[in-house]
Amino acid sequence: MTLALTNVDTGVSIIGAGPVGSLLAGILAHNGVDVTLFDKEHNTLEGPRAMTVNARTAQILDIFDLRENLLSSPPMFHGHYGHTKVDLSTVDTPWPGMWKIQQQDLNNELLIWAIESGARLIRAAKLTNLSTNLDGYVEAEFEGAAKSAASRIVVGCDGEHSSVRSMTGLGEEVSSGHRRFITANLRASHLPTFRFEKFSEGAVVSTGRIDEETYRIMMHLPAYVPSLSTTEDIERAWKMITGVPLQGKVQSWGLQTDRNQLATSFNSSRVLLAGDAAHSQLPVGGCALNYGIEDAFSLAWRIALCLKTDTLDLFDDYSTERKFAAHRMQKFVRNQTEDLYGERPSVERTDATDVESKPNNFAEFLSGVDIDYSSCGTKASTLLHSAEITGDTQQRKLKDAQRTFSYCIPSSGEIDKPLDFAQNEEAHRLLPTGNEEISKAELTVRPDGYLISGM
Ligand SMILES: Cc1cc2nc3c(=O)[nH]c(=O)nc-3n(C[C@H](O)[C@H](O)[C@H](O)COP(=O)(O)OP(=O)(O)OC[C@H]3O[C@@H](n4cnc5c(N)ncnc54)[C@H](O)[C@@H]3O)c2cc1C
Repeated sequence: MTLALTNVDTGVSIIGAGPVGSLLAGILAHNGVDVTLFDKEHNTLEGPRAMTVNARTAQILDIFDLRENLLSSPPMFHGHYGHTKVDLSTVDTPWPGMWKIQQQDLNNELLIWAIESGARLIRAAKLTNLSTNLDGYVEAEFEGAAKSAASRIVVGCDGEHSSVRSMTGLGEEVSSGHRRFITANLRASHLPTFRFEKFSEGAVVSTGRIDEETYRIMMHLPAYVPSLSTTEDIERAWKMITGVPLQGKVQSWGLQTDRNQLATSFNSSRVLLAGDAAHSQLPVGGCALNYGIEDAFSLAWRIALCLKTDTLDLFDDYSTERKFAAHRMQKFVRNQTEDLYGERPSVERTDATDVESKPNNFAEFLSGVDIDYSSCGTKASTLLHSAEITGDTQQRKLKDAQRTFSYCIPSSGEIDKPLDFAQNEEAHRLLPTGNEEISKAELTVRPDGYLISGM
């Protein structure tokens, strides 16, 4: 239900009802947190945006019983790192592969789920000011359907040009881009297949089929293509680059550069950032949305715990871990960008050659399951992988435990019934395996599936 309210009193305000804000609102509402989503638009953003989700996102959706419905078509078992094809089928995760789904569809489903779980949605409410008062409340002011909101925590999921980021003084580290790109969706029955096909003066074109009637094109624009402002300009640019007319009707399009933006910190007291508000870059390798989904998942349990204990310590960990992950991801994006659009052949760069010698590392990167936080100064290390717990039943129980943010207390090799996260004071979950080899070790696993001790 979309509401129009004047003054809102809520536990958590989420600014931005994109996919990241919607998932975060859904998880929090699912766990009984009073949460309100504000968005400046009347509807979910349309246009050419993310099209694939990876294994880690599939796992997160599965925890909330959203996977089966959203990812109904079979996964693809290969991806690409730059030009190199990577086999995803052997990655140790419950859901290996990559799924096609249009961002708008994912966004709308997550939004419906969030509202059904109890989140409020206030549309046409544009954030105009943020301030923290001495009572530990953050006051947000809006233009439009809401006037103000007082909440214990505010999360900026308001995209690349985040108002929350700039209003909070959370700076940004920017590496300026020098390449221009256009991404467009068009209605067409057939387009030639180009996979990063090089044309004159550095122009590069890719095409991909979305469904029976829709194609996605991406063009790296050379200097001779003037600025674009209409769909006719896009058709003209295509013809200038490829030499043939564009056989289709442009439905939506967006301009991008290879600029990277990374917030200096993802938290400032009670204000947090997630998704594109915290990190944005060229969508090479399909990382952007998936990293935002992981931000939301990694933040939700911390918010629930912080609200309960009124301590903010866990937000520093969140910022350290997710900034570390985003920084690393942006390095991989830059390398792939050079591989796909640069002058030098890919073989000159070490990680391009590594793809061939260590394909599984890159399969894990593309699947979103390879992040190891042990080197960034927090207590967590790697994600708990399927092989570390045995049997379907235990996997199932791990999922159940995560769904309710519970901790499992070990007894005689069996997992005890999950406890309610909200009633458990301990900041860890103990998971026995019943497996002879590792039964002596006790796994301490966080609600987001990261190991904090054991093994
Ligand atoms: C042209 C293009 C192509 C892309 N292709 C891909 C791809 O192939 N693969 C991939 O992974 N990613 C891709 N991306 C990136 C992907 O779309 C983003 O990573 C994703 O949208 C991030 O989600 P988000 O929820 O963080 O932010 P967004 O989806 O940007 O949502 C932000 C929300 O905040 C709202 N908002 C903004 N300011 C305010 C305010 N002041 N007050 C209230 N509400 C506000 C907006 O209305 C919006 O609903 C692409 C992006 C673009 C632009």
